[in-house]
Amino acid sequence: MSAGSHPLDDDLNALEDYQKEPYVHPLTCGHDSTHPLLEPIIMNNVLYLWCPECDYRQKVDSDLLAMARNTNAYYAKLREGGML
Ligand SMILES: [Zn+2]
Repeated sequence: MSAGSHPLDDDLNALEDYQKEPYVHPLTCGHDSTHPLLEPIIMNNVLYLWCPECDYRQKVDSDLLAMARNTNAYYAKLREGGML
């Protein structure tokens, strides 16, 4: 592990990639879906999805992470195969 990296960095990166994937419906604010897309943040060693507009916070659980990782892997495979 390189200096300054955090154990949750991989999880955070997976969610960032998911939010950038143009072929999925991104994760949006639980208060108002017209707010900007949720951003993954780490606070007090906990990973959240956070709304920059209203400070809505959703704790990221293992199901959500698995979904994001599976989705990212799926689209990575399609890109590798030249399908996208
Ligand atoms: Zn919001």
